[in-house]
Formats: sequence, C-alpha cells, structure tokens
Amino acid sequence: MALHADSDTIVARATPSGRGGVAIVRLSGQRARELAEGVGGRLPPVREAELRALRDLDGGLIDRGLVLWFQAPHSFTGEDVVEFHVHGSPVVVEMLLGVLAQSGARPADPGEFSQRAFLNGRMDLAQAEAIADLIASASAEGARAAVRSLEGELSAGVTALIDGLAACRARLEAGLDFPEEGIDEFSDPGLDAELLRLLAAIDELHESAARGRVLRDGMTLVIAGAPNVGKSSLLNRLAGYEAAIVTELPGTTRDLVREDILVDGMPVRVVDTAGLRASDDRVEAEGMRRAHAAMQAADLVVLMREAGDDSTSYLAGRVFSRPGQAPAPLGEAATDPAAAALPDGIPVLHVHNKIDLAGQPAGETKDVAGNGVIRLSALTGDGLDLLREHLKRVAGYTGEAGGACSARSRHLEALDRGRRHIETARIALLESATAELAAEDLRLAQQALGEITGEVTTEDLLGRIFSEFCIGK
Ligand code: GDP
Repeated sequence: MALHADSDTIVARATPSGRGGVAIVRLSGQRARELAEGVGGRLPPVREAELRALRDLDGGLIDRGLVLWFQAPHSFTGEDVVEFHVHGSPVVVEMLLGVLAQSGARPADPGEFSQRAFLNGRMDLAQAEAIADLIASASAEGARAAVRSLEGELSAGVTALIDGLAACRARLEAGLDFPEEGIDEFSDPGLDAELLRLLAAIDELHESAARGRVLRDGMTLVIAGAPNVGKSSLLNRLAGYEAAIVTELPGTTRDLVREDILVDGMPVRVVDTAGLRASDDRVEAEGMRRAHAAMQAADLVVLMREAGDDSTSYLAGRVFSRPGQAPAPLGEAATDPAAAALPDGIPVLHVHNKIDLAGQPAGETKDVAGNGVIRLSALTGDGLDLLREHLKRVAGYTGEAGGACSARSRHLEALDRGRRHIETARIALLESATAELAAEDLRLAQQALGEITGEVTTEDLLGRIFSEFCIGK
C-alpha cells in the first residue's frame, strides 16, 4: 500500500447490504465524473441532488435515482466523488456496481474511502479511526466519545503537545548551535517548567483517552467454576435474557458461550466456561481446554462457588494442571479446579452464589490475598449491582463519559512512550546535563505523539488500521 492514494477510481456501496428504502453507491477518483456520466448522463451542479435514469452499458434502465456530485477537493475523500441514491434493493445495487466496474472503476478495499481522506489531508489518522469507532459504537456514551475524536478533540490535544515539544527542542537546539553565545540551557528553569507542563498535559489526555478506550473496547469477563454453581444463570442475569442453557444437570455447558452486553454503557464480553471438572468425555475435556485459553485472555476471571459450601472452595482443586498440560485426575474433594488453573496476572473476583439458599445477605469483602469477594444470587438478582460496580472499577470505567475521546490501545501506548521520552529528557537535562541527548529524546517524544495523528506513519500501520474498516467506509 502506497502512502499516497493510488489513481484508481474506486466504487462501493456505502449503506449496509440487504433491503432498505434507499441504498447509496459511492464512486471516488479521477474518473468518477466520466464514469458517472456514462451511467446517469450529465451530472447535476455540484452538491445538488437531481433525479437521473441510471442505465447499463446497453442502455437498459437499472433504476431511477438521485445523483450527487462533489468536486475535488471538497469531498469526503478529497477526490472527485459521485453518490448514487437508488432504491434499496441488493439486485439494483449489484447491477449498478457491475456497470461501474465494467466501465473501469475498481471495487474499493475495506476502509479505502477513509484512507484516501487521510492521505489527501481531509482528516488525520485519529479522526479516521474515530469514524470506524462511531460506526461500531455500542452505546450512546461510546458514540459521543467517538464524535468528540472525530471533531478533532484528541488530535487538537496531541497537536498542542507536539507544538510544545517543538518549541522546547528549538530552545535546546539554539543552545547547541550557538554555544559561544552562552545560552545556558542546562540551568534554564523555564525549560524544565515547560516540560513539566507538557507531562501534565499528556496525563490529562491519557485519562480522557483511557476512558474512551474502555467505552470502545470494554472488558472481557470469564465466568469459571465447578458445574452447577450458577455460571450460566449469572451470565443470563447480566445479559438480561436467556443466553446460556440453564439446567439442574451438572456439565450442561460444554462449550464457551460468549455474550456481548452493556453494563451501564460499558461493553462487556462475558464468556461462560464449561463447568471445570475432570471428565472422560472428550467433548467436555475440549470445553475445559477452551475455558483455560479464555481465562488467559480475560481482563477479569469471576470464580464462582456456592455460598456456604466449602466443598466447592477454590482451594480444593490444587491438583488441576496448568493450561497446556494434561489435566490431572481429580480426587473426590477437588470439585473446583478452576482456581488452580488460573493464569498469572489476571485479576480474580470470587463470587459466592445462591445466597438465597444459604440465607446470607448480599455483600462485598476481600479475601486474604486481596481479591474481591461478592455474595449474590443469580436467581433473585440480589447483589448483582455490587458485581456491576466491581466490573466498572476493574475496567477503569467511571460511568461519566464526559470529556472522554474515543481512543485505541495504540494511542495510549504512544502517549506512554511520549511521556517516557520527556521524562528521560528531563533527567538528561537535570542530572547529566547533556543537551544533545535531551534534544534527541524530545524528538522521539514528538515522533511517538505524531503516530497518533498520522504525522509519522508507516504503510504497515496504515494497512493494519484501515483493513479493520468495512468496505464502503
Ligand atoms: P452452571 O452449571 O454453573 O452454569 O449452573 P447453572 O446456571 O446451570 O445453574 C445450576 C442450577 O442452579 C440451576 O437449577 C439454577 O436455577 C440454580 N441456580 C443458579 N443460581 C442460583 C441462585 O442464586 N439461587 C438458587 N436458589 N438457585 C440458583
């Protein structure tokens, strides 16, 4: 993929596939005008919709639809763009796409319209990503954060940081170029104060971006525990409908059930695992293997047991193997092997379910290891609020989307990298007094931040970002 838009004229449907009132086909590139006139005759004046008969190459009528013409550079992609608004029939759309392809347009790759908009300077990279995030948003909060990024809030913050860094570098480099003029950058308290101000600004942006990332990516929660403790019931409770089969027979859930739900606007992917127990049944054993793999990828593992039932204590099953090894046979008492197979470094929440049977009140405590313990009833819903609040805390979701800008892990990582380079520059200046090294670190900080907006980019990064888009975006 080139770092400039290629000269092909591209075409794709811009509306979802299927039947609807209206479908939109979009054409972009140097030949957009010529190809559109081949199908619909003379184009209407720029930005004015006019009805046209749209014909195939033999003159057969495909449909009568609105034609809109955006002349470069005043279009979404920055190129000549023509839109056809036709009746929302998949057949009509296919015929129209077919005749435009026959005339010389190339079917667009995923995200190619947005990529051209970026390459032609119509928007920066963070804004192009925000388009995808807005379209994919699963909640009103997520959509608002994406619009804020699309409007350029994240980019403006990043650009201000880059400008600030450039000014600091200029101050340092002036001293390096003209040492004889006696500019003493090493004892320049103003420079350090400015770097501290930039660090504070990075932290503020990081906070807003981190909240935005949770709104976009949410969290993955794995529910694990012995059969019949109520894992499927908890998933159904959280989802608000019957997502998993609940029965009184142990071992019903043989595969992973995944549900995407919203907890107060935060997307949560809940994975219900196969009841973890030793079994000769090969299907069930495969289910357990998948459960372990899912736990390794989780943000939080909820380990369930029945309230007041010590035989399902998570400590009972230490004989279970680590993931990747063959499960060891379990003894009588080892009914809950899940904990013994917990991956390192993944936070755990112990849920004691069925408090209605045990006659216990709902509540939240911590165990000796500092892990959260919540007592609840998946059947009555008592204590579910405590669980929801816990999930939001783990994900760092405050519930107040105010000020959040949609952001991705790569943005947060770039902000972290920028921060580290500024810190290193400060140390270079304050301790070892090497202005060249400090200037180099500020340059690296600038470069890290430039990756967010796409000022600094590579084909590989662009390929990865835009290939995740849908065709037609
Ligand atoms: P899983 O095998 O861990 O997924 O367990 P299920 O969700 O299938 O539940 C097993 C049985 O326990 C079902 O009969 C549920 O109705 C019941 N159950 C689940 N949660 C509760 C609860 O909080 N209280 C009571 N009394 N029964 C529950």
